[in-house]
Amino acid sequence: MITIQNNDGDRRVLLLDSPFALDESPDFPEYLFDVVFIANSSAEETKTILSSINPVTSSKCCYKPLFVASALKGKMGNYDEIIDGYADDWNAMEVLTEIENIIDYNNKIGLTTQEDPILSSNQFFIRLTRYLISRKKTILEPQLDVSASTGYVIPVFDLFYRLGFYELSEYFVFMQSMTEKGLFRTSKFVNKVYLCPTCLHSHILNIHSCPKCGQSSIKMEEVIHHFRCANVSPEHTYNFGGQLRCPKCHKILRHIGVDYDRPTTIHTCNTCGNTFIEPKMKTICTSCHETHDADQLIPQDINIYEITSEGKQSIISPNIGFTIYTEFYDNYIEYNRFVNRIRLLAEQKFTGNIKGDLLVGKIWILNEDGETMPIRSEGIELTCLYFPTNKVSAANNITYIGSVIRNYTGDTEEGIINFQIMLAETIRAAVPILNPGEKICCTYMKLHGNQSTIDDFIKEMDFVSPTPDDSVAYDPNAPKKPKELQ
Ligand SMILES: [Zn+2]
Ligand SMILES: [Zn+2]
Ligand SMILES: [Zn+2]
Repeated sequence: MITIQNNDGDRRVLLLDSPFALDESPDFPEYLFDVVFIANSSAEETKTILSSINPVTSSKCCYKPLFVASALKGKMGNYDEIIDGYADDWNAMEVLTEIENIIDYNNKIGLTTQEDPILSSNQFFIRLTRYLISRKKTILEPQLDVSASTGYVIPVFDLFYRLGFYELSEYFVFMQSMTEKGLFRTSKFVNKVYLCPTCLHSHILNIHSCPKCGQSSIKMEEVIHHFRCANVSPEHTYNFGGQLRCPKCHKILRHIGVDYDRPTTIHTCNTCGNTFIEPKMKTICTSCHETHDADQLIPQDINIYEITSEGKQSIISPNIGFTIYTEFYDNYIEYNRFVNRIRLLAEQKFTGNIKGDLLVGKIWILNEDGETMPIRSEGIELTCLYFPTNKVSAANNITYIGSVIRNYTGDTEEGIINFQIMLAETIRAAVPILNPGEKICCTYMKLHGNQSTIDDFIKEMDFVSPTPDDSVAYDPNAPKKPKELQ
């Protein structure tokens, strides 16, 4: 059963009791409902429904209030983090109040409900952070969880990690980058932990092993120092009929501290017989089963983070998706910086300081009516990956690639052809990000003329060419996600 009904507060409630492919269904568009109510008393079934219908990753349910049956209170584990309340009557006073509080607050901070499908982990992180801001949960506090990947996890993040929305390395980069940008701040240091360098999991066993042969079957024994004759040897050499007797001078030992002491312990390897003071510390990861030396583990600070007030503003802003590329890809730069750079290179070319051709590649998407479509973050990611040594930027529904072709062995033709080939490969790799009816196009501009034509060149960058050099259309058989971004 799935239906939409008005509640007493005149909000439209999407009611459902079983799994439903809501985001894919044309029957329940986002604008037809304000609230989601899942009426199912099985915790397992409700978790299954929530893994797709939830206020974080569902494009249609984004940031909308969500309630589940009251019988599930205390049974939802980490799913509790994305539930606004437990109730059986969607007109109960506390439900109506909570709905109004959430909707009012989202309106106040300007959080719009419509979102695109999530295609990258960065998009997911921004969506989750927006959700947390919407629910005023701006303190991100890790908890110890024996079943979790890194031991300490922020429960709501871990819920989606288990649903496959991101890799651990992406999570650490995201947290670090948000902190460096001042969008998050460390409000408290919790602990420094050491993670497996292969998989970043924390469940690591410490193993003492023989420094000579590496085996871990070792026995530990105290060493006895007999003062009278200065003999120093392992305890077992003193054992004699239940008494301690010196193996060198044969006197019976009586009082520790008076006639003997135990200065240290030694280890003996059961495999090779080697004796040593300090065993070698090795680790084995219970997740990936790799063995590492203890000093190879990755130190990781576990902190309580807080979303700063600057963070709240920028994360809610629709442009955040692009500003974070500057953190993830060294070659992505903001568009005004890109234009300044092109202008500078153009001037350098005309004054003779740069030998070579200045090119600007452009990539854009057209819908079936021939209109340009807003830039998609995966398109920028792909371009950054395909042109790692070029500057990449985006504006005006166009993704830009700057290039100076410098290979002056004979002429520049070969360099230009290579640039064209890379553009053609990039748009082919980007086919999975197209929707039905769309095509992705590319072309490049080459700077000609003299000083006085620089402004025209810059101006022309704003426009797409009616006759692109190359284009590829939507392909229904393409994978859902570009393989480079999987
Ligand atoms: Zn050994
Ligand atoms: Zn002795
Ligand atoms: Zn591992």
